[in-house]
Amino acid sequence: MSSQGVCVLGSTGTIGVNTLDVISRASERYTVIALTANRSDERLYQQCIEFSPQYAVLLDEAAAQRLQQKLVAAGSATEVLCGVESLEWVAGLAQVDQVMAAIVGAAGLLPALAAARAGKRILLANKEALVMSGDLFLQEVRQHNATLLPIDSEHNAIFQCMPEAYEKGLAQVGVNKILLTASGGPFRMRALDSFHDITPQQAVAHPNWVMGQKISVDSATMMNKGLEVIEACWLFNCTADMVEVVIHPQSVIHSMVSYTDGSVLAQLGNPDMRTPIAHAMAWPERMACGVEPLNIFEVAKLEFEKPDFSRFPCLGLAFESLAEGGTATTILNAANEIAVDAFLSKKLSFMNISKVIEKTLQSIRSVNADSLNTILQVDSQAREQALEWVNELEFSR
Ligand code: NAD
Ligand code: MG
Repeated sequence: MSSQGVCVLGSTGTIGVNTLDVISRASERYTVIALTANRSDERLYQQCIEFSPQYAVLLDEAAAQRLQQKLVAAGSATEVLCGVESLEWVAGLAQVDQVMAAIVGAAGLLPALAAARAGKRILLANKEALVMSGDLFLQEVRQHNATLLPIDSEHNAIFQCMPEAYEKGLAQVGVNKILLTASGGPFRMRALDSFHDITPQQAVAHPNWVMGQKISVDSATMMNKGLEVIEACWLFNCTADMVEVVIHPQSVIHSMVSYTDGSVLAQLGNPDMRTPIAHAMAWPERMACGVEPLNIFEVAKLEFEKPDFSRFPCLGLAFESLAEGGTATTILNAANEIAVDAFLSKKLSFMNISKVIEKTLQSIRSVNADSLNTILQVDSQAREQALEWVNELEFSR
């Protein structure tokens, strides 16, 4: 097999680093063509030295200049580029076969869309891209013969448990439910009357997974599961009533698919993102990726609970915006990004994250999400509105 060219968007993040770890163990199968990051030039420099990509892209111009100087001094041939257009450009390069979409948040949408338009195999970690623009994104994938494979551990598990022909419609292939598992995050058992003084440090300390800051806060509010319900509906072409959220604190079952004949298929494994990454990169083959085999005797016990919507209002907001349709999920995503940012910089309390999202959803009417222009406009309008709610709620605290 000839080597596959890979572009890693967001290579300095948790998913990016795990992707490079997988690639380093299968260097005969993959060649790194491009690595990208926001502004962490030092980490990107180390990655460039190790993987010698043709291109390295930083969003930040000053960071790109620093990187270029260091690489020249080290005798590296990697060319440094900067800006969003360069992110889009490297995602569409002819020598790239696979694009790992691992930029966090709405910033990942344009480069992921560029990968779709160039007909690449897209390894999608950046769930926010689908939440913002599901219909449009999938249209681009279909129109340009791209392949979309989920990296989110739950969706990757669901994909592994689905029959091959699931795109015909879940009812047609005998699927009656997707059981989307959730760990419940760090605050599943915390007394509700102590939620008001949750700190960013407590919120980012996830019990089972090591992840970037934004998704860690999303896991603590359970907005992550809300975004994943929306993601599942787009990826598996189904409605929200087909997706049931199941709290499973051990994070050993990564999700399940229930069939009309009573069968339930599950995918199990240690909570290590290298498994879904390696699965999607090698698919339909399998490859080793350094993940420890699951010791089922050590696990011993698997527990399941229904989610508590009153403890985690973000989950309900996600279902509501999905039912509303159109740009409602774009608004949800934008308001969440603003609220999480404000919480991490201590400008908003944990409890007010859901309030900012709720109020932003109430302030802006959902419209048809039929063009990229509309989606980007709604995204920025929702961000402005959410910022106003952040200021107002903090003032009244
Ligand atoms: P992270 O914060 O660790 O890394 C984010 C990456 O994106 C970094 O490389 C950063 O430089 C880059 N980036 C940030 N802002 C950018 C911008 N404006 N423009 C260009 N690049 C930018 O995040 P992560 O935990 O690796 O998560 C990445 C994505 O994968 C998220 O969408 C997350 O929801 C999803 N995901 C993560 C995990 C996990 O275990 N970490 C699991 C499932 C899904
Ligand atoms: Mg997940």
